[in-house]
Amino acid sequence: MTCAPRHIPLQIDDALPSRDDVLALQGVPLGHAVSPAIARTFDAAIRLLADCATPRGLLLEVDQAAFESVYRGAGRNADRTPIGDIYPQAGALALFAVTLGPRVTTELNDCFKRGEVALAAMLDAAASCTADNLAEIVEQHFATLLRDRGDLPPGQRALRYSPGYCGWDISGQRRLFDALQPERIGIQLGDTFLMDPLKSVSGVIVVGPVEIHRFGMVYPACRVCTERGCRTRIQRLSSD
Ligand code: SF4
Repeated sequence: MTCAPRHIPLQIDDALPSRDDVLALQGVPLGHAVSPAIARTFDAAIRLLADCATPRGLLLEVDQAAFESVYRGAGRNADRTPIGDIYPQAGALALFAVTLGPRVTTELNDCFKRGEVALAAMLDAAASCTADNLAEIVEQHFATLLRDRGDLPPGQRALRYSPGYCGWDISGQRRLFDALQPERIGIQLGDTFLMDPLKSVSGVIVVGPVEIHRFGMVYPACRVCTERGCRTRIQRLSSD
C-alpha cells in the first residue's frame, strides 16, 4: 500500500438519478411515455431517498503489487478476465467503496411492510442508480486528484471494476475489504460476500490509456453474460 484510505466527501444532491435512468433499470425503454402515477411515484421515491441517504465514500491508492494480491483473492477468478488483462497496464490504481447508508434499507423494508410495492420498487431502483452515481463521483475524484498532482497524462481515463463481474469472483471482496476497510464508513461484508448496507458499491478504479478499457467479449464469463454492461461503458468512453 502506498497511502492511507481517505474519506471522500459526498452529497446526496450530487448523485440523485434522472427519471430516465431509474425507469430504464426497471425495464422501461428510453422515451417511453410515463403515466402521472408513475411520475408521482418517482418523485416520492427521490424525496424519500434524499431524506434518508447518508452517503459516504472511501478511497485507497494502491500499487500494482498490492492490487495483484487483492485481485488474486481466494483463487476463484476465471482463467481470463477484463480486469486481469487491464490492471497490469494501469498508470494508477485505487480501491474504493461507497454507500448510501443503513436508513435506505430500513425505508425499503418499511415500504414493503406497508404494502407500498410500487414505491418500494421505485426506491430500490433509484437507490441502485444513486449508489452507482456515487461510485462515478469517486472515480472522477481520483482522476482529479491525479490531474492536480500532474499524474494524469493526456489520453488517460479512470474507469471502475468490481468483484462479482466479468469473471472477477465475488470472493475477491474479502481481500478488498482487508485492504480498504470499508467498515470505516459503515459497510460490513457478509458470509456470502454481499455488502450491508446493500446499496453499496466497491471495486478498483483503473487509470490508464483509454484503449486498455476497450476490450472484446472474448472472456469465459462472456459466454453466459446477458447484461453486457461493458458495451455501454465502452460506448461512453468514445463519447467523452
Ligand atoms: S460481455 Fe459481460 S462478462 Fe463479458 S466483458 Fe462484457 S459485461 Fe463482462
